Amino acid sequence: MSVLIYTEISKGKIKKASLEAVNYGAKIAAQTGTTATALIVNAEGGSLDDLGKAGATKVIQVTNKAFVNTDAQVLTNLINEAAQAENSSVVIFSHDLTAKAVAPRLAARLKAGYVPGAVDYPNTDGGKFSVKKNVFSGKAVATYDILSDKKVISLLPNTFPVKTEGSPVGATNMEPTTNTSSRIKVKEVKVESNELSLPEADLVVSAGRGMKGPENWGMVEELAKELGAATACSRPVSDIGWRPHHEHVGQTGIAIRPNLYIAIGISGAIQHLAGVNGSKTIVVINKDPEAPFFKAADYGIVGDAFEVVPKLIEAVKKFKASHN
Ligand SMILES: Cc1cc2nc3c(=O)[nH]c(=O)nc-3n(C[C@H](O)[C@H](O)[C@H](O)COP(=O)(O)OP(=O)(O)OC[C@H]3O[C@@H](n4cnc5c(N)ncnc54)[C@H](O)[C@@H]3O)c2cc1C
Repeated sequence: MSVLIYTEISKGKIKKASLEAVNYGAKIAAQTGTTATALIVNAEGGSLDDLGKAGATKVIQVTNKAFVNTDAQVLTNLINEAAQAENSSVVIFSHDLTAKAVAPRLAARLKAGYVPGAVDYPNTDGGKFSVKKNVFSGKAVATYDILSDKKVISLLPNTFPVKTEGSPVGATNMEPTTNTSSRIKVKEVKVESNELSLPEADLVVSAGRGMKGPENWGMVEELAKELGAATACSRPVSDIGWRPHHEHVGQTGIAIRPNLYIAIGISGAIQHLAGVNGSKTIVVINKDPEAPFFKAADYGIVGDAFEVVPKLIEAVKKFKASHN
């Protein structure tokens, strides 16, 4: 028996969300008296040390071009093969785009119960396996008992801080024998120009229709740059084409849980909040004191963004200069 954790690497570093998943899987392994195996694909040149430090007792590495830009079914075949080889009773993902496409398929193959977007460690008292997840756009928390022998769970990013206090473990190479033929052909991959990946970002500066037009985004980007933050936007802003779609957060966009979310000129509709209300600290800048977003805010500034944001940028610059 083992817990298998699917992990990913970007720019030579294990993704933060993957380390959270390894921490989570290692805790479940300890709770259930088994081991935690991390699976990583095409990580050439990157350091895998953090996987062991985050609690993996074994690391399986697959290096095979067939899995570059592949589709969800082929990746499911691979993870299924690793789960069979490791005799895994629990498979963990981070709740990202890959997990949304692969985890349900894998659960069907393994005949496993599946909980997407878990927000707490499973309760395994008395032999049960109960997992909590947010429901109704984060308005309530539901507890699911997984009754099947095998379990698949995706962990909501930023639920727990990453801990890398363990020791690195050497990686074992796996030569997959799984079917790699795909009915889908990826013709082109466009890499986001954003240096900071939005789902991975600790700090996010986001703006909405209150910015009046795309020509006014310079100050949003400048504030983000000074803070070292990623940029995001509300849905109408990406729908009108003021900002790229990969910045759209909310119920129909990306769900994020950064440590700081600054919302500028965004009303705070429930569909927007669904994607950001897990943020640790929310700062709202809106000229309407009745804007619904203030109810979800930790800090609120009632004022015109065109006056407030330049002052914030100046304040951040001054603070940085005095701390250099
Ligand atoms: C099925 C469905 C799914 C949806 N999914 C999403 C989603 O995923 N994400 C999402 O964002 N939306 C989503 N929406 C749309 C959502 O309901 C809202 O319409 C949208 O979030 C509003 O965007 P906004 O706050 O940028 O614009 P507005 O609602 O127009 O709000 C603009 C805000 O800016 C403020 N403002 C104006 N001028 C200034 C100024 N000078 N300084 C400061 N503040 C100013 C105003 O007071 C106002 O509060 C969805 C809707 C539906 C029906």
